[in-house]
Amino acid sequence: LSTSPMVVVANRLPFILAKDSKGQLVRKQCAGGLVTAVAPVVVETEGLWVGWSGLHEEDSTGEIPEADPNDQSPTAGLKSKQVLPVCLPKKKFDDYYNGCCNATFWPLFHSMPDRAVFQADKWEAYRQVNEEFAMLTVEAVKKLVNSNPECIPLVWLHDYHLMMAANTIRERCDELGLPIKMAFFLHIPFPSWDIMRLFPWDDELLQGILGCDSVGFHVEDYCLNFIDCCQRRLGCRVDRQQMLVEHNNRSVSVHPLPISIPYERFVNLAEKAPQVVKNHDQEQLLLGVDRLDYTKGLVHRIKAFETLLQKHPEHIEHVTFLQVAVPSRTDVKEYQELKEELDQLIGRINGQFSTPNWSPIRYIYGCVSQDQLAAFYRDSSVAVVTPLRDGMNLVAKEFVACQTGEPGVLILSPFAGAGTTMHEALLVNPYETNEFAEVIHRALTMPKDERELRMKQLRRRERERDVNFWLRSFLKTVDCLSDDSVTQG
Ligand code: UDP
Repeated sequence: LSTSPMVVVANRLPFILAKDSKGQLVRKQCAGGLVTAVAPVVVETEGLWVGWSGLHEEDSTGEIPEADPNDQSPTAGLKSKQVLPVCLPKKKFDDYYNGCCNATFWPLFHSMPDRAVFQADKWEAYRQVNEEFAMLTVEAVKKLVNSNPECIPLVWLHDYHLMMAANTIRERCDELGLPIKMAFFLHIPFPSWDIMRLFPWDDELLQGILGCDSVGFHVEDYCLNFIDCCQRRLGCRVDRQQMLVEHNNRSVSVHPLPISIPYERFVNLAEKAPQVVKNHDQEQLLLGVDRLDYTKGLVHRIKAFETLLQKHPEHIEHVTFLQVAVPSRTDVKEYQELKEELDQLIGRINGQFSTPNWSPIRYIYGCVSQDQLAAFYRDSSVAVVTPLRDGMNLVAKEFVACQTGEPGVLILSPFAGAGTTMHEALLVNPYETNEFAEVIHRALTMPKDERELRMKQLRRRERERDVNFWLRSFLKTVDCLSDDSVTQG
């Protein structure tokens, strides 16, 4: 697929390390779509992956075990010498990851500045840790160029954890005469200038990102926000038509690259998954699947469902809301409080509306398997994907892929990246509770021909623009797409 050996640099390795029952270090898989798409390119191009292994310096020897011979996962082909683990003392990692990434950038980039904390020491830890990632990345580049002096490695930095690594990588590689191409992709939204300027070190951050040759965001709005910030904060010359930013006599290209899912994998899962157990044949399921995070709008959604039951009591005993909430950042107070609020709200609504044979909300606080998830997606009448803000949202796409039976309806928030491309969904502002309830009612009562038409279009788009399309589009932005994949694509 790629003409250059790829060095992926991400906060995490594509698997984490843990000890098995015999105390042996083993790889534990993370099954995300990104790893599924990108790991094979690293394997094929004999590239490298730089990231955190899940172990801290105190507990790690830096050793990476080979894959288990029975491992069928996309990372199985990744040899241990292709993996460079970042090992840091626990305190430093915690300051960088919890103190800065999650407490500052996560809320700020999701345009929730009141939740963001700005602390100089945490920012300093972030910069230092980015420096460590950068130095290991230079080692990775050195290894690749030593074994093939003709090659120009493609360094691909991922996400808000690594916005300050590029310039160090560039400078060190220049000093050592190592040729590279470097790209960055942000997996969360990029906020407007008015939000970004609240960050006390916004100029350094923007310059950090501009160390790359190519910068990708999910949607055009995030690209334009970034370009705007570069112009207004750094005084860069920009071209909004061509999406270029000039900085330090270099031209950085900016690209909207909407990430997607391994579409066919979800279709296959849905075709095999067992039926979801319902109270009765006619029961309609409303589905929500989210990490338990304040950006996902869970409380707003449950309140809209309560309003639906009040205003349209005909749905009582006929509709059940199935909400999967995956535990996330459980050691953080804000997340504990959100869980508490949700528990109480769901308890109150179930207490108020339940009948001897039915409860309005089935609530799973935990992670469900991909097979189970595929069954939920396939057998639900309506998926409610209504974050207050979300970079893309893959659940919306997975739902559509799994709709292999009776067509359902997707309700989507315009504040998710997915809301800008999935035009046949019913869009609703999650803050408008009454309207939200009416949109759920409309989805539950939508005639079959309209559902069919909408779902067909949604499925066609996601099938054509799956995660491999995203990967090829990315490689094109850095001139690294091999010719045979152009003809394939
Ligand atoms: N997911 C999962 N098990 C669950 C619930 C969710 O594996 O019990 C996966 C889901 O399939 C999706 C991802 O978690 O791929 C959530 O991605 P999304 O972009 O919607 O949100 P994020 O959590 O990345 O903010």
